[in-house]
Amino acid sequence: MQRYGRTRCNLSSWFQMAAQEEDRDGFKFRSGRLALDLPASLAGRLRQPRELLETPEDLGRWLIASGLTPVDPSPGRATLEQARQLREALYRLGMACVRQQPLEPGDMELVNHFAARSPPVPQLTPAGVRWEGTSAPALLSAIARDAVDLFGTPLAGFIRKCGNESCALMFLDQSRSKHRRWCSMAGCGNKAKVAEFRRRQADETPERSK
Ligand SMILES: [Zn+2]
Repeated sequence: MQRYGRTRCNLSSWFQMAAQEEDRDGFKFRSGRLALDLPASLAGRLRQPRELLETPEDLGRWLIASGLTPVDPSPGRATLEQARQLREALYRLGMACVRQQPLEPGDMELVNHFAARSPPVPQLTPAGVRWEGTSAPALLSAIARDAVDLFGTPLAGFIRKCGNESCALMFLDQSRSKHRRWCSMAGCGNKAKVAEFRRRQADETPERSK
C-alpha cells in the first residue's frame, strides 16, 4: 500500500502534478502524457536506436521516474517484454495521430488488452488518497488507460512530433497558442536556435569580408 497524494485520485492527473522536470534518471518525460513518454524510452529512434529499458531494473527505474510509483515494483522479464510491446504500439498510434492516419487495429487491440487489466485503485483514507495494487502490470494498465484517453478523444488532434527532424519524441501540445514545435525548449528548441544563429552568421560573414 502506498500513499501518493492528498487530492488527486486519477493516476494520470497525479503523474502530471507530481513530476515536472523533463529529464529524470536518464529518461525523458517531455510530452505531458504517460502514453507518449513511454515511447521515448527507446532513445535515438530515428538514427541510432538505444534501448533504455534493457533490464527489468531499468523498467522499475522508469516507472519510478514517471511518477507512477515511489517504490520499485520489481518487474520481471515478462513484464519488461510487455512494456516494450506496449511502448512500440504507443509509438505507432501516436505517429498515426500526428500524421492523421487511421489507427492500426492490432495496436489498438494491444492497448485495449493492457487497459482491460486492473489498474492501481485509489482508496480514501483520513490522510488523503492511498493507491493500492501498484504492481508493474497494473502500472502498465494505467499507461494503456492514459493512451485510450489520449488517442480516443479530441486530444489526439493535438499530438505533435518534435520539429527537430532527427528527434522522434512526441508531445501533447497544451500551449495556449497551439504552436508548440519542440519536445523541449531547452533541448531541441535551443539546438534549433543555435543552428539558426550560426546560419545567419555564416550568411553575414562573406558580406563583411568584401
Ligand atoms: Zn525533440
